[in-house]
Amino acid sequence: MNEKGKRKLALNGFMYVRDKTKNGVTYWRCEDYLKCKSRVSTAEDDSLMRAPCEHSHPPNPARVIVARAKASMRD
Ligand SMILES: [Zn+2]
Repeated sequence: MNEKGKRKLALNGFMYVRDKTKNGVTYWRCEDYLKCKSRVSTAEDDSLMRAPCEHSHPPNPARVIVARAKASMRD
C-alpha cells in the first residue's frame, strides 16, 4: 500500500481522499467511498465550501489522529 502523494482531509473523525481539483475547488470523497457517498469540497484556502452529507458508517477518530501524526512528521 503506497499512499505517498495522496492528499487526505480529516474532518469530524472522517477521512477523505482527494478526488479532483477544478477551478480552485478541491473535491474530496469519503475514504470509504465504495460504500459511502459522503463528499465535501474545499476552496483554495482550505475553507469548507460544502459540508459533507451523512456517512453510512461511524467516524474513526483513531485513524484521523494517526494521519495527523504522519502529517506533522513532515514538518
Ligand atoms: Zn463515509
